[in-house]
Amino acid sequence: MCNNEHNADTLPLGLAPNVAALGADLQAIFGDRVRRHEPMAFHTLLRVGGPADLWLVVTALDELITAVQLARQHRCPVLLVGSGANLLVSDKGVRGLVLHNRCEGTIFVTDDEQPRVTALSGTRLSSLARKAAHHGLSGLEWAIGVPGTLGGALINNAGAFGSCIADCLVQAELLTSTGERLWRSVEWFGYTYRSSRLKRETAETSISFVVLQAELRLNRASPVEIEDRMSLFDAQRRRSQPNGASLGSMFKNPPGDYAGRLIEAAGLKGTQIGGARISEQHANFFLNIGGARAADFVALIELARDEVRARFGVEMELEIQRAGEWG
Ligand SMILES: Cc1cc2nc3c(=O)[nH]c(=O)nc-3n(C[C@H](O)[C@H](O)[C@H](O)COP(=O)(O)OP(=O)(O)OC[C@H]3O[C@@H](n4cnc5c(N)ncnc54)[C@H](O)[C@@H]3O)c2cc1C
Repeated sequence: MCNNEHNADTLPLGLAPNVAALGADLQAIFGDRVRRHEPMAFHTLLRVGGPADLWLVVTALDELITAVQLARQHRCPVLLVGSGANLLVSDKGVRGLVLHNRCEGTIFVTDDEQPRVTALSGTRLSSLARKAAHHGLSGLEWAIGVPGTLGGALINNAGAFGSCIADCLVQAELLTSTGERLWRSVEWFGYTYRSSRLKRETAETSISFVVLQAELRLNRASPVEIEDRMSLFDAQRRRSQPNGASLGSMFKNPPGDYAGRLIEAAGLKGTQIGGARISEQHANFFLNIGGARAADFVALIELARDEVRARFGVEMELEIQRAGEWG
């Protein structure tokens, strides 16, 4: 690509030369869809995060692959965002390219012995659950109120009400760091509670693998039963979870206990730092009550961790992921 053709005078303000060159190459393909210095606070459910150097919404797999490959040719870090439902992005923002994955699409196979769906990674989890219900297919009812995309769910092993995505994943197609497209079966993903091989290998500044699409195994069931289960889960979620900008559960539940119970027992419900507050309703939910900065959340996370460790000797592990430039 044309790295050498850019004159320093024409570089957008504040971008490293390779990022500016990537921006120009992306613009040649995607035009004004490429944005510079896009506030990440607009694109995370916590409504927090400084500017992304370059920001692009992709709606088709070939766009996603082209953008990732270009970033790699320019040696620019690239971060993928689904719905930003699990991301705490730094106040300094993200260096390099951020891709918003809006590649959506589903193909259901209902007449085979084993019903299944293949979905693009930008498909929203709750829309996938609704479509499965429409086809009389069970297995995703738990996902009805989980914000985020299929790709994000595969990274975090999203789950609720005793089920998780690992339970129905058959295989997924990945774009590797060397640009290959490979299908990998569920065993490869090394799933554990709210984690995966991909999450463990993902850095705060860049991703190594991109999830392109995935095949999920489903079961035939009565549409009424499926709808009933979804309504039950939805109601339970509404009862137990606070409204407002959050990332859902901040910490994983430690073995045999609940992070929310421990934070509450440490007397931290309602504790506030800047615009970040520990919910009065559910102590594992940390809310942006207006104008919060990522630094407020980091301080609140450290406080909760220190207090719980000091009082109960329990080390709490983050469920959410930090992204961007820290330090
Ligand atoms: C109110 C609320 C309730 C929640 N309840 C639950 C719950 O019940 N259960 C649960 O498990 N989670 C829950 N969450 C957390 C969140 O919904 C999940 O973690 C979800 O899977 C995040 O998906 P996402 O698409 O938004 O991922 P993002 O937050 O956008 O990204 C998360 C990580 O995945 C990476 N990523 C995303 N897409 C891809 C891809 N295609 N290829 C490679 N990497 C990718 C990102 O780079 C990042 O590292 C909740 C969050 C909120 C705000």
